[in-house]
Amino acid sequence: MPIDPTLPYDDHNVFAKILRGEIPNRTVYEDEWALAFHDINPQAPTHVLVIPKGPYVSWDDFSAGASAEEIAGFVRAVGHVARSLGLVEPGYRLLANIGQHGHQEVPHLHVHLFGGKPLGPMLA
Ligand code: 5GP
Repeated sequence: MPIDPTLPYDDHNVFAKILRGEIPNRTVYEDEWALAFHDINPQAPTHVLVIPKGPYVSWDDFSAGASAEEIAGFVRAVGHVARSLGLVEPGYRLLANIGQHGHQEVPHLHVHLFGGKPLGPMLA
């Protein structure tokens, strides 16, 4: 079920638990600003989720509420993960599902990073 984007940040969401170490994950990269880990239900040979460490639900509260340092740290982490996984060439796809119409299921902002095969044209 997609989330209700009007609700405040829920500290009990699965990615908050992963950040606190309460649920195991297969970490790809971690720094002060971001954590990247393999998706539990991969949709491509490489399917990694990159999340900011702060309590942000959507692109809206992140872009409006995070500091410039946090935003830069998160964006740099995504780039670092793509490079470290060898995806810069031949390329990859970034996707963020936001809110109801975006069919966001986990209410902690995340970017999906897909790669490892030709992904075809973007759908919808
Ligand atoms: P979205 O919110 O963008 O629709 O997708 C949430 C993503 O989180 C899904 O791709 C789902 O497989 C992944 N996911 C949900 N629960 C877990 C979990 O406990 N561990 C990991 N690694 N991924 C999860």
